[in-house]
Amino acid sequence: MEHRNAPRPVNFKRSLPARLKHDPQVIKWAQRLAGNAHMRPKDLSEEQLAFVMLEVAKRRGDELDRDLFLKTMAETTPALAAPKLERQRLAEDLELIWSQPEMRTFWDGWDGARAKRGPAPDYATGRGLAVVLGMSGVSAHADDAYAELTQNRAIWKLVERLSGGGRRIPHSYENATKQLPRLACHDRALATNVQMIRELARLHPDAGIGERLMIDGMAVPAWCAQVRAGKDEAEERARRGVCPEAGARAIIHASNGKRNVAAGERGSANTYLAKGKFWRGYYLVCIADQASGLPLVWQTMDASRDEASAIIPLMSDLARLWGEDFAPELIAGDSAWDEDNWCRMLEVEYGIHPVFRLHHADRRPDVSKHSRDGTVAAITPSGRLVCAAHRQALPMVGAETARRVDGAGDRLRPGKTSDESAFRIRAECSKGCGRLGLKMQADWSRLTYYPHHGHGAGAIQWRYAMRQAMLTRLNGMEGIWQRLQGGKKLGTDDADRTRIRRKEAHDLLIDLALLSMTAATLADVRAQRQITVSTPPRGKAAQPSTANGSTAPPSPSPKTAARMTASSPSPPSATTATTTTVNAAEASAYPGGESTRSLPVLSSEQLARARRTEPSSDRADSLLPDLMIDV
Ligand SMILES: [Zn+2]
Repeated sequence: MEHRNAPRPVNFKRSLPARLKHDPQVIKWAQRLAGNAHMRPKDLSEEQLAFVMLEVAKRRGDELDRDLFLKTMAETTPALAAPKLERQRLAEDLELIWSQPEMRTFWDGWDGARAKRGPAPDYATGRGLAVVLGMSGVSAHADDAYAELTQNRAIWKLVERLSGGGRRIPHSYENATKQLPRLACHDRALATNVQMIRELARLHPDAGIGERLMIDGMAVPAWCAQVRAGKDEAEERARRGVCPEAGARAIIHASNGKRNVAAGERGSANTYLAKGKFWRGYYLVCIADQASGLPLVWQTMDASRDEASAIIPLMSDLARLWGEDFAPELIAGDSAWDEDNWCRMLEVEYGIHPVFRLHHADRRPDVSKHSRDGTVAAITPSGRLVCAAHRQALPMVGAETARRVDGAGDRLRPGKTSDESAFRIRAECSKGCGRLGLKMQADWSRLTYYPHHGHGAGAIQWRYAMRQAMLTRLNGMEGIWQRLQGGKKLGTDDADRTRIRRKEAHDLLIDLALLSMTAATLADVRAQRQITVSTPPRGKAAQPSTANGSTAPPSPSPKTAARMTASSPSPPSATTATTTTVNAAEASAYPGGESTRSLPVLSSEQLARARRTEPSSDRADSLLPDLMIDV
């Protein structure tokens, strides 16, 4: 893999170069965002990005402070860039990913379901197939992945080594695909991933890793007929067919965010074609870390369900897996999450400030019953307090939040409810009313610590700038989705979608893909710092979570660090280089191998040979109808 430098932050002490005004990329994105403020600019430098967002704010007549915005953009510049993986060096990159001790531990505990009696099944081929399908981006087709696994000697040797050494004969294609759903291990994948992000945070203590979160969702069409929702339960069940968890969803991107298309709704076909999306399948929802640009925790759900509710299990997973010192400052997301119940949950149960794009921009809730003695008459759509005596929107002076301690003075664990009536917004009337307050309970989505407006003293303006910077940074989520679709060929549309019907198998591939992003970055960071990782012998690997019998988070222990810096004098890349020699016959499987975009094109003979590798006795029981992979 090739190291890439993290983007250079804007120099906020200087003004941005004037030439940016004529930069075609800047002009293009400023126009697009003027039409739809929810778009996420991509392929821009930090300077271009900041300039575009300032232009858009200016056109909107926004009170965003230029210097503070540049400063918050500089503060939130991603600290890491994903290393570049190369198709021609696939085996080497996989080797490097799987040489990370966390990943080795994951592999060692990655066992498929086994029957009550009889010998433990050998899952090496199924695991290898899952790795190639989920991590390599070779193809969305399982038969291509199987051919790569069994014909690329370097990859099969890696599977042999990870499985304890010794020569193995790959199982048949049918048997390997049958193993996929049994190898599902979502919780282990999340635990390993969070452990690696914590390790990155330890290696980059000042980068802000784990402090600023982002949440977003992506459509994942299933391998079933892409037909709309059934009129009744029976019809819907029939339409789901072999993918019982694949619901239908139609959305339209409007200027204030996306909305669901209701059944029977009529509208212009043009609008739908330009701004609509329909799929039957799943919604992948992910909480990511902004500073590293890496996924933290995720889950897939029936696409017909409200994806925003995934924030409940995801926050719970993240807090549990991160451990005692879980204390992010904020979480950013689009307007799907801008609802009172999510904003309340984040503040009251986790002490994390919500930074979501305003959803109901024109709603004016009645706040009178939340104002003590009626001094606050109303709030503006952006959440400014209006004083009852002077009927004036006031500048904000601050926010009060509950202390996260219980009656005995002990720290509340994440997820435990603090005193929600203690959360207040403070504002000041200069005409004599003095300081006024309003409980956030009156409107959790508008009365936020990071306000939806910039009216107030410097600290308030900074918070508003930080809000705008974090909403800009949501393009980091787009980066993760792009890598999943373009790099791993997962979650793509039409004929390219993953041809697997069982949701467990589908989820497994997504788990491995997202896990590999973190592992690749960790491998890259360790290589950059010349931290060599020694792999524990199989069976002796430290368990990821409970190293000393405690439930304390595992990674930043000095012991682990010592293990990783000790022994082996050569960097991992040097040790892997020897195993990736590809012989002439294997090389012939890659016509045009120079291009990173080219896929292996195998002849039908090669495919047939690949599938014949296993004795035919295995065939009879391998033709289970429950996991059909179309070939
Ligand atoms: Zn007043």
